[in-house]
Amino acid sequence: MKITDVEAIWLQLPTVDDRADGTQDTLVVKVHTDEGIVGVGEVDSSPMAAKAIIEAPLSHRIARGLRLCVIGEDPLDIARLWHAMYEGSIFFGRGGAAQQAISGIDIALWDIAGKALGQPVYRLLGGGFRNRLRAYASILFQETPEATYDLARRLADQGFTAVKFGWGPMGTSEKTDLALVRMARRGLGDHLDLMIDAGICYDTATAIRRAHQFAEYNPFWLEEPLHPDNLEGYSRLAAVSPIRIAAGEQETTLVGFQALLDAGLAVVQPDVARVGGISQAIQIGRMAMQRHRLCVNHSYKTGISIAASLHFLAALPNAPLLEYCVEQSPLRQTLTRETFPVVDGWVAVPQEPGLGITLDEEVIARYRVA
Ligand SMILES: [Mg+2]
Repeated sequence: MKITDVEAIWLQLPTVDDRADGTQDTLVVKVHTDEGIVGVGEVDSSPMAAKAIIEAPLSHRIARGLRLCVIGEDPLDIARLWHAMYEGSIFFGRGGAAQQAISGIDIALWDIAGKALGQPVYRLLGGGFRNRLRAYASILFQETPEATYDLARRLADQGFTAVKFGWGPMGTSEKTDLALVRMARRGLGDHLDLMIDAGICYDTATAIRRAHQFAEYNPFWLEEPLHPDNLEGYSRLAAVSPIRIAAGEQETTLVGFQALLDAGLAVVQPDVARVGGISQAIQIGRMAMQRHRLCVNHSYKTGISIAASLHFLAALPNAPLLEYCVEQSPLRQTLTRETFPVVDGWVAVPQEPGLGITLDEEVIARYRVA
């Protein structure tokens, strides 16, 4: 089997605003083969930047578009092609948008391998530790504590057993921060798990203070309170925090995740559409396992990312939860025909060959901008 083409398809809603909502656009990757099997992947990046990295012409040996690194090659040689993409983009890559772009092709290669071998992807990763994951509903803090309370009530009524609120007005003031968390907890009741995503809003001293203040509301973790470059702050925070500290969604490399584990984080959160795909996400999860830490996906895109996340998480012993974005964007809700229903708070791992998804081509046609 040979790769004949790589398509990078940029989708975007008619209006995009500056909320921290990644479901407003995406980059879908299709890898075509001479045997008619098409693999599907997704990139979480600036879609225009990642599309350019995939489609770029040859500049020189270590500065070539990712498409050129894989065209004509056997798609089942996933590790070799991952290396070829990484080495072929060293000049402008080794992280950031180039690594995010590699993710889309890597996920598509695993989809092809599963379809060609008649196996769901998680089985190619060594098999499943579980056939369903406990989903936590992931949504942004609402503009007021009262609106956050109402939303928490609605999500609890939908059967979720864990909910994360993030970003929005968090960080505005001590009073607002505590009111948001208090009302989120009140809306969920005492028996559901609550995660707090601070959204990079604190300096180290404030984060240490908030971790102690939030502890009263028994959060399962406090996520991304600090700037991703503030590793010294993460070390100090993790050493004294009474609750788990989680981060990792801004990291794209193994080195970056190693540094977060060294800083003492309890939970690392690789995004399969940012870290270089399934090939790297599973490695990050295993690194966390060696340190007896949890690995939970970051995912705030479409059903493609949900499926890819389910497969790598299923193949890890230390991955008890699934981030499940509940934004109502049509890209999140309708791009894949599979809807990944939450049943009693759990989402099933796909059992069909490959990722187990089919794209709705009408949705692609409606939102395609390039
Ligand atoms: Mg987050």
